[in-house]
Amino acid sequence: MALPDASPDTSDALQVLHRVFGYSSFRGEQQDIIEQVVGGGDALVLMPTGGGKSLCYQIPALVRDGTGIVISPLIALMQDQVNALTALGVRAGFLNSTQDPYERQAVEQAFLADELDLLYLAPERLRTESTQRLLDRGKVSLFAIDEAHCVAQWGHDFRPDYLALSMLHERWPKVPRIALTATATEATHAEIVARLGLEDARHFVASFDRPNIQYRIAPKNNPLKQVLELIRSEHAGDAGVVYCLSRASVEKTAAFLVEEGIDAVAYHAGMDARTRAANQARFLRDDGVVVVATIAFGMGIDKPDVRFVAHLDLPKSVEGYYQETGRAGRDGEPATAWLAYGLQDVVQQRKLIEGSEGDEMHRRSLGMHLDAMLALCETVDCRRVRLLEYFGQSGVPCGNCDTCLTPAESWDATVASQKLLSTVWRLAKERRQKFGAGQVIDILQGKKTAKVIQFDHDALSVFGVGSELGTAEWRGVVRQLLAQRLLAVEGDYGTLVLTEDSGEVLGGRRSVSMRKEKAPAGPARKESGSRSGKGARVPVDLPAAAEPVFLALRAWRAETAKEQGVPAYVVFHDATLREIATRLPATAEELGTVGGIGEAKLAKYAEGVLGTLAECGATDPDAAVAAPAPAPGSGSGSAAPARPAAPDDDEPPFDLDEMAPPPWDDWQ
Ligand code: ADP
Ligand code: ZN
Repeated sequence: MALPDASPDTSDALQVLHRVFGYSSFRGEQQDIIEQVVGGGDALVLMPTGGGKSLCYQIPALVRDGTGIVISPLIALMQDQVNALTALGVRAGFLNSTQDPYERQAVEQAFLADELDLLYLAPERLRTESTQRLLDRGKVSLFAIDEAHCVAQWGHDFRPDYLALSMLHERWPKVPRIALTATATEATHAEIVARLGLEDARHFVASFDRPNIQYRIAPKNNPLKQVLELIRSEHAGDAGVVYCLSRASVEKTAAFLVEEGIDAVAYHAGMDARTRAANQARFLRDDGVVVVATIAFGMGIDKPDVRFVAHLDLPKSVEGYYQETGRAGRDGEPATAWLAYGLQDVVQQRKLIEGSEGDEMHRRSLGMHLDAMLALCETVDCRRVRLLEYFGQSGVPCGNCDTCLTPAESWDATVASQKLLSTVWRLAKERRQKFGAGQVIDILQGKKTAKVIQFDHDALSVFGVGSELGTAEWRGVVRQLLAQRLLAVEGDYGTLVLTEDSGEVLGGRRSVSMRKEKAPAGPARKESGSRSGKGARVPVDLPAAAEPVFLALRAWRAETAKEQGVPAYVVFHDATLREIATRLPATAEELGTVGGIGEAKLAKYAEGVLGTLAECGATDPDAAVAAPAPAPGSGSGSAAPARPAAPDDDEPPFDLDEMAPPPWDDWQ
């Protein structure tokens, strides 16, 4: 890169943005952050995934003299990152354990000769004296500490090697440092500052909102069918991630999707390394692959065009949910975060915590994380507002989550809760046998099943007092009581037991409000998704006339990416293809004004793109000159069931007095 001789300023940064990256303006706080680092100051950047963190260190590295050193734990991604930069005409390299000594030496030579704009380094390499001496001998323009939350010891991605990064400032006090992360909590923020010695850095905390992600949490009934329906009706031909809790369910789900004709691959830590790597590579490189994975998959997956993230099991915390769903829609295009959630999830997660290693305090902390996640699932308010609140930020109802799109109703479930808790109390009194939700619901609905008859449960005073609710609704009541800790589960068979707070409800001193159960939701956004019916997804706001052009460009991109051995998005992002398909540039000069097309890509692809446009009759073939010129859903579904959710009589339909719930103390 030709660098100006005079001291760098912001106009250089803007010029690099146009010329190299092909973007017209900075986003959010990018400009301020870049100014801070270009000027030699330290910065701490908290910005959500997809917010545009990379430019915050890449542009200063291009503007300042010397090489920007990027410390990243994501060794497997370095090659792709370097490829993407090379495609932009940026001189980049990496040093990590996957290289042989010759490859490493070549990169070191390039660095010493000041022929690199950016050098990616694994943190463990930086600890070695030889690497430190290498850096001393070259010219370092800045240190970028990517995934900076890895320094947080209590966080989920802790890397011991990150602790050593505190020495950067001592050894190279004049070199500016920029630490970046998408992990939002206050605690992590504070730990990064302390451990990296960033007290004097400027802090840039962006909003953690991801407006392009549509959050939806649906009642779980048949998760495999539900996710298939989601893919078919809204995301045919799209890349997506399906998260499952266990390796076994990963395998099962992937096999099911493949059988149903979806291009799906599995990913979990128990697979042999080669298959796993191959599956990851397919997901990253090819268009429209669905990866079914445990949460081991994903950190640093910076594929920009993941169109949906589906959770078939409940995440353990709101942080986890936010990180995982955040892998959707990094490119800013519409994306879906869909979670199927049911009674079994609550039971399972509570059991996992019960059986987890560690002391009582640890279990309590896990319990609190789960409670926050459950509250997000059961809320009747905007999901996004609740999510942002969790991270200490405020928001207004978003219009792009299931509760905003189909407002959820709440109902007074006090009487229903009393019925259910009374039944559990009665069964507990028997002390002979332990019973789960199934038996309790059968009793409430007055079902004379073999098991009900065997234990004389049809003789209980609560037998049949709950016939006004269906089974799914009763399961919803159990789930929400569990979520509110008004009920608990015990043992391997999910025995329902009362909690200390149950007495409040039974004694009529506390009322219970619940989210009304909806019928299992069908597709939410009928208008979006595949309009072409050919399996390839067409972006929502693309005019119909531009559809065939977009698809032709996508085919050209797939072919080009394959030839060059790079992921499709390294050639062009979807947004760029869409802009081309809508604007139909007739000349290379015009093409150069499309977002995401800088000088290097224009030189490389103008001929291919203009040729493709001409081939599908979108432009005048004679205009397709090769010489490039430099250029500067509606909600989660159907209405609530017609059945009244709870009786609204003044008189409870069963004799509460007769049940005479004794005070809590007597029940133990
Ligand atoms: P992060 O690392 O924060 O997850 P990235 O740096 O990968 O995000 O950027 C996300 C997407 O936004 C990328 O596709 C990137 O090219 C694009 N992008 C970043 N900054 C701009 C900008 N100023 N104008 C247009 N697109 C941008
Ligand atoms: Zn909302």
